[in-house]
Amino acid sequence: MKRLVLLVSLLFTINLLAADLKARNVFLLTVDGLRWQEVFRGLDESLASNTEYNKRSKDIKALYWTDSKEERAQSLMPFLHGTVLQKGTVVGNRDKNSCARVANPWYFSYPGYSEILTGVVDEALDSNEKIWNPNESFLEKLNTSKNYEGKVAAFTSWDVFPYILNVERSGLPVNAGQKVDPPANELERILNRLQDDIPSPWETARFDAFTHHYALSYIKNRHPRIVYISFDETDDFAHDGRYDEYLMAANRADRFIEELWQFIQSDADYKDQTILFITVDHGRGEEPEETWRHHGSKRSVAKYEQYLAQYPDGIVGSEAVWMAAMGPGIPAHGLVVTGDKCLTSKRIAATLLKLLGEDYRLFNPEMGVPMQEFIQ
Ligand SMILES: [Zn+2]
Repeated sequence: MKRLVLLVSLLFTINLLAADLKARNVFLLTVDGLRWQEVFRGLDESLASNTEYNKRSKDIKALYWTDSKEERAQSLMPFLHGTVLQKGTVVGNRDKNSCARVANPWYFSYPGYSEILTGVVDEALDSNEKIWNPNESFLEKLNTSKNYEGKVAAFTSWDVFPYILNVERSGLPVNAGQKVDPPANELERILNRLQDDIPSPWETARFDAFTHHYALSYIKNRHPRIVYISFDETDDFAHDGRYDEYLMAANRADRFIEELWQFIQSDADYKDQTILFITVDHGRGEEPEETWRHHGSKRSVAKYEQYLAQYPDGIVGSEAVWMAAMGPGIPAHGLVVTGDKCLTSKRIAATLLKLLGEDYRLFNPEMGVPMQEFIQ
């Protein structure tokens, strides 16, 4: 009898532990085209000193320059290095033999985001055009299941996301680009007004501050379980050739994510039950130096004659990405050395499903398999 009681209580404990490891909520965040080089090495002195790329060279050096690479990275992204890397798992620092890359053959945004969100590579998605994605995202799949229905939401600075997430078919709420939703409260009313009144420098994207505050407001009011937030400024400032603005945008994204995490950990529904997963849709070039502004594979560059002449091999290195995550069920490995293998973005969706206790094969068996590196 005693033995039986012991056995039953042991099983009960194991069960509780397993339940503890399962996350209830997932927050996925992306920072468009933010290079692993800045994330792990911090400010690049040569780029930061180039007058062609900076109007605020002095400011960014005062903010982010120190002699040590690690300290530079820390000062650029203090939350990522001070908290996520300490409590969770990170891949993508190629200086330390930690490798992550996209699996799609294009190395630009639509195919990159589609790969992350659907878990599959669809080679036919070879442009950033506003085309309805034929593939279903894990957000769409979860939104059709009882536990998550109506509990999924996306907030994106780029206005192509309603197509990538195929809102026409999925019906997902996607607050994107310059779109203005009816305000749920006074803060959203003010955000709507400011979004109308402040001109965006870009045709297809808004400033990330709007995306962040719309997301935070919705999360506080509606408590969605699956949230996707996509920041964009880093990519647009890089294409514009503004290294100073690119760095400051990366630092702001880090701050926004920290603010989100602080709310998560202060809220009874989210605290210790929520996963934070941060990644990017593509990398950028490194050599020659001016390729930090660009990205795109040899195959995608081949479509544009003017680039082909200049970069016959495409933008080398722009397939490189990084991933960082923490939360229940995610080990505190810190930086994971991947050795010969390289983790791919198409495995993110299945990893998140697995952390939620769901079987990705029931959603789509074609998805990239879960990454054990992120699972306890
Ligand atoms: Zn881009």
